[in-house]
Amino acid sequence: MLSRTTATATASASLSVSSLTSTNPSRFLSHLSPNCSRFSGLKKLSYTFPNPVSNFVSVRWNRSKNINYKAKRNNCDRSRMENFTTRAFAEPLKNPGELIDSVETFIFDCDGVIWKGDKLIDGVPETLDMLRSKGKRLVFVTNNSTKSRKQYGKKFETLGLNVSEEEIFASSFAAAAYLKSINFPKDKKVYVIGEDGILKELELAGFEYLGGPEDGGKKIELKPGFLMEHDKDVGAVVVGFDRYFNYYKIQYGTLCIRENPGCLFIATNRDAVTHLTDAQEWAGGGSMVGAVSGSTQREPLVVGKPSTFMMDYLANKFGILKSQICMVGDRLDTDILFGQNGGCKTLLVLSGVTTLPMLQNPNNSIQPDFYTNKISDFLPLKAATV
Ligand SMILES: [Mg+2]
Repeated sequence: MLSRTTATATASASLSVSSLTSTNPSRFLSHLSPNCSRFSGLKKLSYTFPNPVSNFVSVRWNRSKNINYKAKRNNCDRSRMENFTTRAFAEPLKNPGELIDSVETFIFDCDGVIWKGDKLIDGVPETLDMLRSKGKRLVFVTNNSTKSRKQYGKKFETLGLNVSEEEIFASSFAAAAYLKSINFPKDKKVYVIGEDGILKELELAGFEYLGGPEDGGKKIELKPGFLMEHDKDVGAVVVGFDRYFNYYKIQYGTLCIRENPGCLFIATNRDAVTHLTDAQEWAGGGSMVGAVSGSTQREPLVVGKPSTFMMDYLANKFGILKSQICMVGDRLDTDILFGQNGGCKTLLVLSGVTTLPMLQNPNNSIQPDFYTNKISDFLPLKAATV
């Protein structure tokens, strides 16, 4: 088992790990007060030494929100506490059955978890079947906005997976769902910097749009006095990954955001890189969003991971408690953060972009609850040996 404790706790009494991974601060604090013995055995925290003036211990809860809490020291033995400096690190998944039993819903990222490019990852169909047979709800969430839910459904089908459209949540869908959730006026239009998936979802939601692939071939010929006209009825600019990104689109989106009163700036995601081929990393949706953010000096509203919009949407739609969800993904800064921001359990799989050395790098501050090689480690007799 991995142990990366930075210093040794001197006390030996124990608290369960689950009690320390709660996202509820009051629940956490209840373990720290009123007497010091309850600090004993904590392995998932870093905190500073007791402040001799305030008589408070500043505890860093190194979990989802990296919030600092203060707990009164009360009758603690300071000498014991000064040796108690530990940090949170993910644990290898040793008991998949326990994790499966502890939640009712699994949210899976797709690329790097279910498939890699167009290739299914080993053991995925059996794993999904096993989870369904145990009555678990399965949801698939992807930041890739180039496809609609329907188009993703086809991809699952092509790979031989029985997944319905209602179980798929792409950031293209999230953009349309967000506009619906705020009752975006139907007489306003949406300018799209992105690919077909966003257009399809906007259409399904009944919104009028312009831009998208159609503007991919447009060029600007700068002549003295040239002025680009733009539609004053555009009330939102949605930016997602776009292989046909160009200066025309940047200028059009910028004009809408800067000049149309109240125009929204929505990003499907801000992923730095994406995996168009397995040979290298490619500039992701964050590069397109960054360009428009740079010219407008505005920060977008992000609807994809790690923003909690989709998590809130899912919890409402299915009527599920977020504490009953396990988020499974291959990226720390989107998937795992998404799960942690939503207050879910988190499992990192090493079948995608994150390697064990990356997870264990001292500079990495995002630690899932568990990690394992791939989701088929859920299957009996295939327990993780990472
Ligand atoms: Mg992924």
